[in-house]
Amino acid sequence: MAGESPKPRSHGMFQPRASARPRPLMPGQAAAGAFRVKVLTILPEMFPGALAASLTGKALTARIWSLEVLDIREFAGNKHRTVDDTPAGGGPGLVMKPDVVAAAIDHAQADVPEDRERWPVIYLSPRGRPLTQARVRELAAGAGLTLLCGRFEGVDQRVLEAREVEEVSIGDFVLTGGEIPAMALIDAVVRLRPGVLGNAESIEEESFSRGLLEHPHYTRPQVWEGREIPEILLSGHHAKIAEWRLSQATRLTKQRRPDLWRAHTSDEGAADGDRELSDAPTSATKGGQTKDRER
Ligand code: SAH
Repeated sequence: MAGESPKPRSHGMFQPRASARPRPLMPGQAAAGAFRVKVLTILPEMFPGALAASLTGKALTARIWSLEVLDIREFAGNKHRTVDDTPAGGGPGLVMKPDVVAAAIDHAQADVPEDRERWPVIYLSPRGRPLTQARVRELAAGAGLTLLCGRFEGVDQRVLEAREVEEVSIGDFVLTGGEIPAMALIDAVVRLRPGVLGNAESIEEESFSRGLLEHPHYTRPQVWEGREIPEILLSGHHAKIAEWRLSQATRLTKQRRPDLWRAHTSDEGAADGDRELSDAPTSATKGGQTKDRER
C-alpha cells in the first residue's frame, strides 16, 4: 500500500531492505502459520543481525517465522527524514516524534489481526514491565509481534498512549537503542515456536519454567582439572537424579533469586498454578519487581 521505494541492492539472502512497504526478508517468507515479526527502527541494517545465526536463523530460512523491517525514517514527512526533535520542557537529547512513529505503527498494523493479544505492539523501553519467561510464552502463542525500537531519549509519550503500545524492558540497565532488546525478545519468543528447538524437553526443564533457576549441567570428561561430576548423575538412577536436580535448582534459586523463591513458595498449591506476568505491577521499580512472578 506504500509508494514505490528505491531499487534494492542485493546483499544476499538475509539482508533486510528497509522500505515503507513491509516486506518479508525473503520472497514469500510469511508462510501460512509462520510467526510474523515486524520491527520499526531507524537502523534497519541491524536486522536480522544475530538472529540470522544458529537456531533462529534456521527457523527463519525454514519459514517458521518471518521478519519484516520497517525504516521509521521512511515515514518522516520532510525531505530530511527527520524523526526526532528537542524535548518539550528542555533538557538533553532528542525525542522521537509522535506523528512519524504513529505513521510507522499504522502502516505496520494495516495487514495484521486487530486482536492485540494475538499481535501486540511493543515498545522496548527501560521503563517497561520487565520481560519474563511467562510473557515470552504468551507472546509465542500469538500470531505475531510489532516491535518499536527507540533511539535517543525515547519516544513521545502521546503516541504510546494513542496506539496503546505496551512497554517492555529487558532489564534494569540502559542501552543506546531498542534494537538489541528487540532481538533478545524475538530470540526468546521464536525459540518457543514449534520446530525451533530440537529437544522439546529442554523447554520444560530450563530456568523459570517451574519458577526455579535451572540445576547445574555436566558433561564428559568425568574428571576435569581434578573436579568430578557429582556421583549421583552417573548412577543411572533417574528418580534420584531428578530429586538431586530439584534440590540444586531450589538451592540456587534461594541463593541467587530470593524474589523468585518467594513467588515460587507463595504460588505452590495455587489453583491454576500458572503465574502470569499480566497480574504483576506495571512499575519497573524495585518494589514492583520483587512482586513480578516468573515461571
Ligand atoms: N531516556 C531513556 C533511555 C533511552 S535509551 C530512559 O531513561 O528511560 C534509548 C532507547 O533504547 C529506548 O528508547 C529504548 O527503546 C531502548 N532501551 C534502552 N534500554 C532498554 C532496556 N533496558 N530495555 C528495553 N529497551 C531499552
